[in-house]
Amino acid sequence: MISDKMIGLVQNSSVIRAMFEEGKRLADIYGAENVYDFSLGNPSVEPPKKIKEEILNIINTEEANLVHGYMSNSGYEDVRTAIADSLNKRFQTSFSRENIIMTVGAAGGLNVILKTLLNPGDEVIVFAPFFGEYRSYVDNFDGKLVVVSPNTLDFQPNLAEFETKITERTKVIIVNTPNNPTGVVYSEATVKGLADVLNRKQKELGNSIYLISDEPYRELVYDGVEVPYLTKYYNNTIVGYSFSKSLSLPGERIGYLVIPNEVDDYTNVIGAANVANRILGFVNAPSLMQRVVARCLDAEVDVASYNRNRELLYNSLRQYGYTCIKPEGAFYLFVKALEEDDKAFAVAAKNHNILIVPGSSFGCPGYCRIAYCVAYETIQRSLPGFEKLAKEYKSTDRS
Ligand code: PLP
Repeated sequence: MISDKMIGLVQNSSVIRAMFEEGKRLADIYGAENVYDFSLGNPSVEPPKKIKEEILNIINTEEANLVHGYMSNSGYEDVRTAIADSLNKRFQTSFSRENIIMTVGAAGGLNVILKTLLNPGDEVIVFAPFFGEYRSYVDNFDGKLVVVSPNTLDFQPNLAEFETKITERTKVIIVNTPNNPTGVVYSEATVKGLADVLNRKQKELGNSIYLISDEPYRELVYDGVEVPYLTKYYNNTIVGYSFSKSLSLPGERIGYLVIPNEVDDYTNVIGAANVANRILGFVNAPSLMQRVVARCLDAEVDVASYNRNRELLYNSLRQYGYTCIKPEGAFYLFVKALEEDDKAFAVAAKNHNILIVPGSSFGCPGYCRIAYCVAYETIQRSLPGFEKLAKEYKSTDRS
């Protein structure tokens, strides 16, 4: 008796989650140490020690009704001020607490801002490959997802095709950098190009087009790569941030939206987002975690350990003959499948107890995502399987 819409959604429900379940099944048969589960983006490094210390400090020193009570739907004023100050220091912006709304992770923030902005039928453009959950988030508000095809040369967005896909119904663009599933960081040239197209199209169409920058991986970058702060390039930018990955707190559901004064119709947008946070049923972001992250804005997880995983996996796969570009951020590697059918390739990998997610889940068939947020030893133990898999394809020439 579930709704027609949910029937479809359940049927298409996350391939990633299905893989995760499959991993558990295989672990029961072969033993957990012989199953190499690269399916889920669940951080493998621990949260910084400061998180635990501050949880205890807050519980022991702050007033219980303040720590656990309701607050403004946008979040605690002092927490939002701390976040605005930290962003201003890091990115030379000029935000105040009036630009920040605390959210239930990036997922909560995206749903809040899409509810705030979308009328039924409004178009939301994404660049393939993209985080598959965007499909559902856009559908939640009867928006229409429009996909720009992937640029498999370097996985920077295809701006020429992007321009042709903007119509008078385009309301929102979602970008995600560092990117899930490719690990690519959009270059400053890309960001400037994107802003040029948007400014030109806004003028031509006489509409506001909002750019949402979904950035749960901002802090996870390697080799000193810079991730441009998008509000500085395009006025109608709204940032969705999350502490899920940057502080390894995905189960705590904490993040925020940045809605700058410069966005069109700022007063109504921020007011509506505040209401959307409440009426979507979030009410407000988790209270204790708001207070914790405000004290931990300079804390960092051990990115070096993700980097070690990245180097080992990338170098080994290249050596076995796989094609992939070296990720500059996040903890994903997007490898070209050794046959056209990425789903069949993922099944072939599973025969070696290697669990990876087909690229079609991210709107990019022909590739697979390997989430390397796992123990270093898991990667080490998985390598013979990856090598055998490559040899199998070479010997049967199924490519
Ligand atoms: N956006 C992207 C690109 C993600 O990869 C994820 C989680 O993996 C999310 C949003 C959701 O993150 P959160 O746990 O903060 O809701």
